[in-house]
Formats: sequence, structure tokens, C-alpha cells
Amino acid sequence: MTQDPCYAQPIEIAKDIFWVGCVIPQDSFQCHVYLINNGDESILIDPGSVITFSETIKKISEITQLKNIKYLICHHQDPDITSCISRLEKLINRNDKFIVTHWRAQALLKHYQWETPFWLIDQNDWQLNLKNGRRLRFIFTPYAHFPGAFCTFDETTKTLFSSDLFGGFTKTFSLFAQDENYFEEMKVFHEHYIPSKEILYNALVQIERYNPELIAPQHGSIIKKELIQPMINRLKELECGLFQFGGDSNILKLSKINRVLKGIVDNLALNPRLINALRHIKKLMEELVAVDEFLIVAPLEPERQKLVLFSTNSKASYPIFVEEEQEKFEQLLEMMRKARNISLEKKIEMPRWGLCNKSAIIFPLKTRDHRFIGGAIALLRQNLDSVDTAYLDVFKRFVVPLSVALERELNILAAEEEKEKVYKIAIIDGLTGLFNRFYLNTVIDKEFYKAKRHNYPLSIAIFDIDFFKKVNDTYGHLIGDFILKEIAKIIKKGLRKGDIAIRYGGEEILVVLPFTKRSDAQSVAERIRREVENKEFKVAGLTIKITLSAGVAEVKNEHSINELIKRADENLYRAKYGGRNKVM
Ligand code: GH3
Ligand code: MG
Ligand code: MG
Repeated sequence: MTQDPCYAQPIEIAKDIFWVGCVIPQDSFQCHVYLINNGDESILIDPGSVITFSETIKKISEITQLKNIKYLICHHQDPDITSCISRLEKLINRNDKFIVTHWRAQALLKHYQWETPFWLIDQNDWQLNLKNGRRLRFIFTPYAHFPGAFCTFDETTKTLFSSDLFGGFTKTFSLFAQDENYFEEMKVFHEHYIPSKEILYNALVQIERYNPELIAPQHGSIIKKELIQPMINRLKELECGLFQFGGDSNILKLSKINRVLKGIVDNLALNPRLINALRHIKKLMEELVAVDEFLIVAPLEPERQKLVLFSTNSKASYPIFVEEEQEKFEQLLEMMRKARNISLEKKIEMPRWGLCNKSAIIFPLKTRDHRFIGGAIALLRQNLDSVDTAYLDVFKRFVVPLSVALERELNILAAEEEKEKVYKIAIIDGLTGLFNRFYLNTVIDKEFYKAKRHNYPLSIAIFDIDFFKKVNDTYGHLIGDFILKEIAKIIKKGLRKGDIAIRYGGEEILVVLPFTKRSDAQSVAERIRREVENKEFKVAGLTIKITLSAGVAEVKNEHSINELIKRADENLYRAKYGGRNKVM
């Protein structure tokens, strides 16, 4: 057999690891044999075909004696790996040699009736420990391409003997892959020999865990470290096997549908909030149908008077409570409730957008006990007639998980609403709508210490209505209440966002102004004082004039908010005794 002289010798590809194959002229499907030279426990990997046998024996003999070979690894049972073994086992003169393989290969290989016993990787914890400490790990890569396929990883050199994975059909022989173009040679081989993208992906993920530094496949070219990751990345994307052929075949569609559906179900299960899941779902569905917007409308329990709208196209990260056009949304919901199943609409009237001229897929969402809880609409960017009916099936299949997710979301929203209501009751003063003293204790303390820690100014002002007792005595409590409410409104309006107004006592209102110096707090209080002074309170045919006094203080050396309040209170007292209708 003639061959390139440089391949006439064994080639050391890593320390003590030799290529002992044989180049078959004008064959695009080269087969490699590797030897791990490991003393009297040497290992021959994928021993080879009878065509190359004599050349391989010659090369091995240049490195070690044949009797030193103890293990013959057969990554699977094909003739290019095993046809030489009947002859080889007779040449290896020792009784403790083994054929290393997986039980699925052994079930077939036993029909050769070799004398050498089998050593099954699956019965030996997927590793072979050699007496000099070297360890081989076996990586299971089922169905790539044989059901019992595996790879062998040498821990010492981090070399992966990858069997058919990473193999290639090569136009011209090159023992080492030169550059990323090697992918083109691998591509054709994998498309034909590996059953599916999923199977290949699984095998690659298993392999990646070991971080190999060199990949020595049984066909094609050896891959050095720098090319390994790029090759793995590209192989992960490769459509191969069954799905590679037949273009728009049903099997291709089915696989696509399954992938999209799995993504959708995963998203619904894993995303705690529905709106985020919907956005992902819209993206996933793009692979099947061009979706413009995906919406869900549902009444909020328990009163079912509020409607919530989830829209993939709204920028908000929370659902919208529908207030405008509620009636129209209710009509839409009613239409969805009546539709017993998924329905297709050529053009749909959407409350917010009018007749939106878009095709839509509409589905009612129900609980397991068939209670209607809302409806979903996919507004399409493409015409309904151009949608593959096989893809519409996906919608049918995710109605149930979507309903479950909606039910969960509605429960969360109802609980949040309830919590908010209770919290509001706890912290808001019923008469004035200002915060109450409970809030003062929980929140204001925090503001005070924050200002001290970060060294920014914080002021407070205490307002007190002048001669309020007289107002009550003259006009009655109801009118007093009215005045108090009006004054609370004026104060609230005069504050910035971030300022906090609290009903501190009966007719005393305390205002906390973060990031505000005393002089600025004083201006704020003065402006409010003047507004009250100038206002005519009109109620029950009466016109009443009111004035306010206020005391202001800025944080200096106080150790607590109470000390600060005390100082503001003293200033208020001074304002009162200085004649009232004043800010001190
Ligand atoms: P001063 O200028 O010294 O503040 O005189 P004042 O009469 O406003 O002060 P005083 O503290 O003697 O009386 C406060 C009055 O505020 C007594 C109380 O009847 C009235 N008041 C407190 N809370 C309410 C309320 O919720 N509604 C009404 N209508 N009056 C209230
Ligand atoms: Mg093969
Ligand atoms: Mg008063």
C-alpha cells in the first residue's frame, strides 16, 4: 500500500499517544487507530479494518511489543473498527487481555466468537483505572451514531477519543484539522450519520464537561485545542440525521412544533409573572407564525369588576388595569367566553385599536373545572390563509398550560391588591388622606437615619391651625372636618415628590422634607401659610377665613427624629405666642 511518506511512521499526537493508522489512497473516509503506550497495560483504540491491519501492526511494533496491549477499546461494532480483531487477538500473546465496549455493542460482537473476553464500561463505573495511576473515563453518547456509542477520555493528556463524533469526509487527507474549514467536512459526515440534532447536542454537552485538549476521532482529522470550542459550537447548531432531509417534511414540522411547545410550557412554568412569559412565548411562536401582539384579558377576582390586560407590546412590566373602554373589553371577553374552542378571525375588532385589520387567533382560557377565567388573542402579522394549519395545533396544545399560568397570575394579583388595601388602611388617615402616625414611626425614622448617614439635609415642618377650636365651636364639627380636609389638600399640593405629609395630631400636620435645608423648608411652609391665609373656604353658604402657624427645623446634632420634632414644636410654640399666622 503506497502512502505519503510522512504517514509511514507512527505519529505521537500527545505524550505516549500514537496514531498507528494507515492512509488509504483516494478514500474520503479514512479510519484512524490510536495506541496509548502504557507499559504492559497499553491500549489500542478502535483496532481497525483488515485493509489497514498489517500497516497498523507494523506501526505498533515500532513503539511496543504486541503482548503489551492489554485492552482493545471498540467504540462500536462496525467493520472498520472490529474486522481485524479475529487476527489481532491471535498475535497478542497474553491471556489477560480484554475487549472494552458497551453492552449494546457486546450483544452484537459476541457473534464473532472471539476468544478475548469483554470488559463492559457500563459495568465498571464508566472508568478504567490502570495500575500506574492512569485513568480512562468513558463518556456515553448514545445514538451518536450507534445506540451504545461512547467516547474515551484519557485524563492524563486530556485527549478525547471521540469515535464517530467529530469525524469527517475529507477530500484530501490531513491528520490534523488545519482551520475552521474542517467543519464543512464534519458537517456532511454528521448530517448523514448522526440521527438528530438533539442526539448530537446531548453528546456534545457530555463531552464539554471534560474540557478535552485534543480530540482524536476515528474518521477525518484530529482537532487541536484552539479549534475544539468553535467546532462544538457549530455542531450544536447543525440540523442532522432524520430532520436534515425532506425539507418541509412532516417530521421537520413536528420537531419544530415540539421544540416551540416545550419552550412555551417551560416559560409558563418557570416565569413567576405572566407578562414576562408572554413576551418569551411571542418570540418563540415567531418560528411558526408571525405574531404581532399577544394579549390576555381577564376579570380580576373576587369581585370580577376590574379587568386586567396583559400585552406583549406594552412597555410596562406589570399588567394594565383596564379602566377606559372597559365596556368594549367586556364585550370582547364575552365573545371569547362564548367561543368554546380556539377560533380564527380574519379581522378582529379590538377595543383599543378599533377594527385592527389583522387576523387573530382567539382562545378562551378555562380552569380544569371548565370555569372561564379570561381570553387570549394572538394578533397576526400574516394573513390567516398563509398560516400552516399544522402550526395552529400548537395554540391548541398550550391552552391548558396558559390557563394554569393565568389562574396563578390572577391569584397573585388579587393577593397583591388585598395586601395593598390593608396596608393603605393601616397607614392612611381616613379623614385627610395623609399618612397617619403609625407611618411616622415606621418610615420617618428610616428617612432620618438615611439623611444622617449620607449626610444630606433633612427638614421638618409642623403646621397647626390657628384657633381651630373656635371654628368647631362656631360652625360645628362637620365644617371643622371640611376645613381640615381642605388644608390637608393645600399642604399636599405645596410639596414635592418625596416629601411626606402626616396627620400628626388632631389639627397638626407634620411634613418631612428630605434633601431640604432649613431656609428652603421655611419658604415651603411660608408659601403654604400664605395660600391658606388668602383662601376663602366656602361651605354650606358660608365663607370662612383660616390661618396656620408653623415651626420648622433642620437636622443638626439630633440623635432621633423625636428630638427634631421637639425642636420644630418649640418653634411652632414661638409662632403661636408671637401672634399666630407665622412660620418660625
Ligand atoms: P391654637 O391656635 O392655639 O392652635 O388654638 P386651637 O384652638 O387650634 O388649639 P387647641 O389645641 O386648643 O384645639 C385644637 C382643636 O382642634 C380641638 C379639637 O376640637 C380640634 N380638632 C382636632 N381634631 C379634629 C378633627 O378631626 N375634626 C375637627 N372638626 N376638629 C378637630
Ligand atoms: Mg465508524
Ligand atoms: Mg390649633
